[in-house]
Amino acid sequence: MKDTAVRVADFKDSIFGVISKLAREHNAVNLGQGFPDFDGPDWIKEVAYQKMKDGHNQYAPFMGTQSLRQEVSLYYKKFYGLSYDPEKEITITVGATEAIYLVITALINPGDEVIVLEPFYDSYVASIKMAGGIPVPVTMHAPDFTIDKKELENAISPKTKLIILNNPHNPTGKVWSREELLDVSLLVEKNDLYLLSDEVYEFLLFDGVKHIPTATLEGMMERTITVSSAGKTFGLTGWKIGWICANEKVTKACRLVHQYVTFAVSTPMQEAVAVGLTKLSDYLPDFVNLYRSKRDFFYNELKNLGFDFKIPKGTYFMMVPIKNKTTLKDVDFALKLIQERKVATVPPSAFYLKSTEGESYLRFCFAKKEETLKEAAKNLQGL
Ligand code: PMP
Ligand code: GLN
Repeated sequence: MKDTAVRVADFKDSIFGVISKLAREHNAVNLGQGFPDFDGPDWIKEVAYQKMKDGHNQYAPFMGTQSLRQEVSLYYKKFYGLSYDPEKEITITVGATEAIYLVITALINPGDEVIVLEPFYDSYVASIKMAGGIPVPVTMHAPDFTIDKKELENAISPKTKLIILNNPHNPTGKVWSREELLDVSLLVEKNDLYLLSDEVYEFLLFDGVKHIPTATLEGMMERTITVSSAGKTFGLTGWKIGWICANEKVTKACRLVHQYVTFAVSTPMQEAVAVGLTKLSDYLPDFVNLYRSKRDFFYNELKNLGFDFKIPKGTYFMMVPIKNKTTLKDVDFALKLIQERKVATVPPSAFYLKSTEGESYLRFCFAKKEETLKEAAKNLQGL
């Protein structure tokens, strides 16, 4: 039989699937893949069921239901002062993952370079490669995961078209400061680039830190393509409802790709998320408190176990240094913990192309029930 396409030849199973499978096989507590092991709120599930009973069950308009595009537009206005036209600048997607694929496919020609700030969410590089683009890594250096402005500037070439930035940041839990965002945006403007801003954890911020959408920086509204998702905000990662906010030209191109990849996204779930977005102001304080208490609890447990790192200000991840615990690299240490301690984590080297800095860390997801976090901490005793 003939070979499958070259574009997928060097793809492997994603680290999240690999770790979840190992966790199941070894009956390990799974703090690897990023998803809550508890359910999202009942009220939004009830809205979804009601929407199904009310007959919202046939194909949605391909760019997304009117109600959801409208509510996305309203929350960007209300929370950030940003104006997106729901008719021309907002597209609903199957989670942020499809959104990222659409943006990259819509913008990147074979041979175009895309700067990825490593450690990165794994689908960025896969989508770039599927478009025939070239990922150019720039490292966010440990321990604070900062970029060196010069390194970023040097990575930009005449072939660069796009920079991908993720804030709040998976896997490190870092929240970018305004100054850091400005450093990137100045280079975007100076070199006439686009910026894909992955903001799926926009509402998972702690200790009074405020989200700064990249599009709010001066001159960045036109150049920034913002991607987000209801999966994190409502703790329902399986619903897979995401969106793209971008200028009319980019939106048009993304919609053309979307129309042939998925055509339309689940109608009742879009309708339920639209209602969910109207309730954000009431819903968010308890939501953030819940995750903050999980973060604080697990951070203290890890501190007591002798892990030494700064508490993350955003997301539901912790990037934990392992150097004082082992001479093993992340992958081997992660395997050892699954087999011998029954705790699954993600080895972050999977999120790097260039630097080896990830080898001395493990990523823990704390979006888990208290009993799950307690069990993991108990299993790690004496490490
Ligand atoms: N971007 C980042 C940084 C993520 O962590 C994730 C996955 N959790 C996604 C995008 C994909 O989101 P979705 O599940 O909505 O496709
Ligand atoms: N974004 C989630 C994580 O970082 C996983 C999503 C996936 O499995 N692709 O763990």
